[in-house]
Amino acid sequence: MAFEAIRGQSAAVDVLTRAIASGRVAHAYAFVGPSGVGRKLTARAFAKALLCPSPPRGGEDEGEGVGVRENACGRCRACRKVEKGIHPDLMLIAPTPPATNPRGTPAIRLDAIRDLERWAALRPAEGPWKVFIIDDAGRMTPETPQAFLKTLEEPPARTVIILILSQTRELPATVISRCQVVRFVPLGEEETVALLEARGIDGPPARLLTRACQGRPGLALAQDPKTWVERRDLALSILAEVGAGGAGALFKWAESLGRDRPQVEQLIETWWLWFRDLLCVKAGGDPRLLVHGDRQGDLTGAADARSWEELLAGLCACREAWQALQGNVSPRLTMEVVLSRLALRAA
Ligand SMILES: [Zn+2]
Repeated sequence: MAFEAIRGQSAAVDVLTRAIASGRVAHAYAFVGPSGVGRKLTARAFAKALLCPSPPRGGEDEGEGVGVRENACGRCRACRKVEKGIHPDLMLIAPTPPATNPRGTPAIRLDAIRDLERWAALRPAEGPWKVFIIDDAGRMTPETPQAFLKTLEEPPARTVIILILSQTRELPATVISRCQVVRFVPLGEEETVALLEARGIDGPPARLLTRACQGRPGLALAQDPKTWVERRDLALSILAEVGAGGAGALFKWAESLGRDRPQVEQLIETWWLWFRDLLCVKAGGDPRLLVHGDRQGDLTGAADARSWEELLAGLCACREAWQALQGNVSPRLTMEVVLSRLALRAA
């Protein structure tokens, strides 16, 4: 009742279950892959399997490729506590804003690592292990990895630390080299559709969300399909409006939405997918590859109106805007620059 809930990550699950079965559990793991593919779910399943005192016997509850001995029972007190996030031997650490500014950029701070050190030095309270899951571990403040290195170099006994991050380069090589890297991959289209359908999203919205989330079902499940379509439509109407209305429309939209970083991230993602579709249409690609397949008429019109160079430049503009946001450029400025590159034509 733990690993079998994970879809499309059989290589990762394999590494972890083999570690438990062989009794060779590493002190630190880096779960590396895009968000929304099950990294955190797997970390919890792993914690559960480590902390469950009564692994299931016999063939029941056996998941895809998972033996019984190395899985959790999913029913005992320990499993239920992990499920609720209240197990005393499991600590979840996530980025927090600075103590002095609740609206500041969230990060993994020195204080959190100090807490981890203190906890790790204690013996497990109930289970055989102490497990620490650090979500978004790539977002450490500059001084934090150095402090963390000490814990990694001399890990207390019976301690397992799991770092969750998108790319290994988000942390210094000195940190990564002390972790066992476990890779997570985007899911295939049919796997994603099946997963969404199992969660009650079906029909055309399931297909549309599946393509938009690009193999990261967690992102699709985090939003209401209707809201997603509304936001997509808004993103496209902003492009059209700025194309027709010029700089005036551009500044209006940047002013009204530019303070909301998550929304600007989402707009840029939608525009990126739109330009990707345009390229696909212009190249005569299979319509089944289109994310915005429900807007095929608009796609054909827009693809005809633009040159190959313009389409490629559009993709570049989106990628650079994304990097600017990650590098802490203000969302408003990012939005102004990307919109001018995507929608303003040389007069
Ligand atoms: Zn259990």
